[in-house]
Amino acid sequence: MTKTMTNDDGAMRRQPGCPLCDGPGGRVVWRGAGCRVILPDEPDYPGFVRVVLDDHVAEMTDLLPSVRDALMRIVWEAEACLREVMDPDKVNVASLGNMVAHVHWHVIPRWRDDRHFPGSVWSAPQRQGEALARSAERAARVDTLVQRLQARLAAMPSADAE
Ligand SMILES: [Zn+2]
Repeated sequence: MTKTMTNDDGAMRRQPGCPLCDGPGGRVVWRGAGCRVILPDEPDYPGFVRVVLDDHVAEMTDLLPSVRDALMRIVWEAEACLREVMDPDKVNVASLGNMVAHVHWHVIPRWRDDRHFPGSVWSAPQRQGEALARSAERAARVDTLVQRLQARLAAMPSADAE
């Protein structure tokens, strides 16, 4: 991996009007070489993490394999942190990009009693009030999650050093 995650010439691609080019997309909890980890505003899903490439690229196969691998190492670190701190029944890892065609990975803690389980978080809700109360209880763990993410990602060997 080079200094950034851009493919070849090092020039960062930007798409005016893309929400992930125009802004961070959420609360930035970590920034690395060419990508960032954010907490989007998803009140039903405390601990929902997105790993966002800085470069405006639509598909993973637009990226060099080394860049792809570096990005996915961050996704797997995020998954590991979610499992340790949020104690989910399942983790959903997804890349859709139909609305925002800019590479980003959703890493989502899921619980059997969450608002949409067993559907995806984008499906029709299955339940209401009680799920919201539980999400508030789980939100208390988010600060710990952020600390764990920052510590684990800071401890990751950078590809430059490999
Ligand atoms: Zn973009």
